[in-house]
Amino acid sequence: MKTWIENGVVIAWIDGRHQVLEGAVVVIEKDLIVHIGPANGLVPGPDDIRINAQGRIVMPGLVNTHLHVTDTMFTKGYLEESSNISSQAKETNYGTLYKMLPAVRHAIDPESQVIAAECAFAELARTGSTTVVELGYDYEVGGDGDIAITEQVAHTGIRVGLRCYSAPRFRAMHYGHAPGGKVWYEAYPDNGRKRFRDCVDFCVGWDGKFDGRLRTMLAPGQIDTCDPAMLRQAREAADAHKLLIQVHAGQSPNEYERIRSQHGMTTVDYMHSTGMLGPDVLIGHGQIMTADGNMASLEPREVAALRDSQTTVVHLPWVKARRGGVINSIEKYKQLGIRQSIGTDTFPFDLFNDMRMAATVCRIVEHSVSVAPSHDVFNMATVGGADALGRPDLGRLAVGCKADIVFVRTDTFKAAPVYDPFKFLVLSASGDDVDRVIVDGVTIVEGGRVLNVDMPRAVARLNDAARAVRERVVL
Ligand SMILES: [Zn+2]
Repeated sequence: MKTWIENGVVIAWIDGRHQVLEGAVVVIEKDLIVHIGPANGLVPGPDDIRINAQGRIVMPGLVNTHLHVTDTMFTKGYLEESSNISSQAKETNYGTLYKMLPAVRHAIDPESQVIAAECAFAELARTGSTTVVELGYDYEVGGDGDIAITEQVAHTGIRVGLRCYSAPRFRAMHYGHAPGGKVWYEAYPDNGRKRFRDCVDFCVGWDGKFDGRLRTMLAPGQIDTCDPAMLRQAREAADAHKLLIQVHAGQSPNEYERIRSQHGMTTVDYMHSTGMLGPDVLIGHGQIMTADGNMASLEPREVAALRDSQTTVVHLPWVKARRGGVINSIEKYKQLGIRQSIGTDTFPFDLFNDMRMAATVCRIVEHSVSVAPSHDVFNMATVGGADALGRPDLGRLAVGCKADIVFVRTDTFKAAPVYDPFKFLVLSASGDDVDRVIVDGVTIVEGGRVLNVDMPRAVARLNDAARAVRERVVL
């Protein structure tokens, strides 16, 4: 039995680029695309399923390469407008990162994390992310962290129907915010080594489960909260077990200065020296990688290290923009030949929003409308993410690729007329326009509704959990 998607405007991967095919047919068998293009005399068999995509763009599922499902829902109302602006950093020193975020995370109990994860995964699916990289942080809960939470969260993502990369975080120390904006660091009792071993064991044991829909990734918490030995151990584990790595880096001026003072190196040099660059490495954030946060200030050797190692920088434009910060810039990274993808990081879990932000903030920073064209930004959210994950079978619609497909409505006041699907998708559309989502050949969203989650019940549980969490937050 095959599934036929007919009458849509299809974004197909042809000759190494996304191209628009009007009225093409996409045929799925099990988890794979087996035909894409004109029907060419092919006709559906009597048992085949036919889906009419009239008034829909049929596009590859979005590859969302950086997000957190266990805490994000509870940070609403706390993080949006607390300061992260470079010009104010002296007084506030990134209060969001060092004060608000730890305060909220400490207040979240394990059960609430799993409750939040269900809603987060459902929202990711509803808004067109089909592959998600979930960076778990449960280490802060109870000091040691419990890998059982990671397992429950992974199960939840799989039950919702997504393709998940589970990346439980480990680190040697945690940090916080002292009066006056100074950041303190405090080592965990065993320098986080038990948690590190738990995370490696989880990644080795769970990678490839659920017919390959679950993959795992090593996640050194932040470049400045791991000691150099821990980073090198992560590199050894990645090489030994063929695992990917994602590390938070380039998040704040404090982090940049800390690495300089502790190790006498720039962030890029330090990452290079500890094995944290490579085709299997994703850098989450990558915003403050130089003293002034401008990528044009990277030294030639730093550019060569990032570029030649084929490391991917995961941009998270919305979380910066809403607090007045900006990546400077995705155009500069492009000109330097550095691989790039996009993630949502925070709420809303709508990668369409981040595509629009990526394009617009880049144009503002560069004072030019000719940078960050829609087609490029769409690439970052699809093939850019897939390439970072080493997955030529994701982020594109072609024969032999996974059937991870998103339908976007164009039969609306908002959309019509669509002259250029890429401009519509990047600069006008939102996750609310997503009509159907298919992952691994299975429909998990239909008519905008997430099929595997009882939304009223899940939202009620989240609200109950959030009330209790809010009472425990100490700022
Ligand atoms: Zn993050």
